[in-house]
Amino acid sequence: MRENRIASEVVSMEIEELYQEVILDHSRRPRNFGELPDAAVRVRGDNPACGDEIHLAVKFDPGGGLEDIKFTGRGCAISQASASLMTMKLKGKSRAEVIEMLRAFHDLVTEEISEAPKTLGDLRVMQGVRKFPQRVKCAMLPWRAVEQALEQRAGEATVSTEPD
Ligand code: ZN
Repeated sequence: MRENRIASEVVSMEIEELYQEVILDHSRRPRNFGELPDAAVRVRGDNPACGDEIHLAVKFDPGGGLEDIKFTGRGCAISQASASLMTMKLKGKSRAEVIEMLRAFHDLVTEEISEAPKTLGDLRVMQGVRKFPQRVKCAMLPWRAVEQALEQRAGEATVSTEPD
């Protein structure tokens, strides 16, 4: 029995290390990083608690879905990796799918879920941040920005993880 318990602890440690590797990889080589010249909306997101900054640019398809999404920014590994993973996941998704993913991701990093929904794919590597409330803001920053982009539909906006 005891050996079994130790074995499962080792496995969960390995998974956490694997998750960290994915996060580090995305923070060092962020995907969809750069300018989007013909963007419909640009949202600047700030997380003053950590000093993270995200500039998100979105282009919509005729149905309101995310035809293209890119970002630039700087900050901690969690915020940059979260933005990179998010853009990979949301690019090409319909408006409804984006809203659904936003809800699922928020639950993932704030609620006690024993098994994260498979639909989240690689985003599940962020699950560990829920143990650290300050990190939750880092992980949510790009999602706050995309939420604002959907609401706004055109023009420029700013969002912050801190209340006014
Ligand atoms: Zn941060």
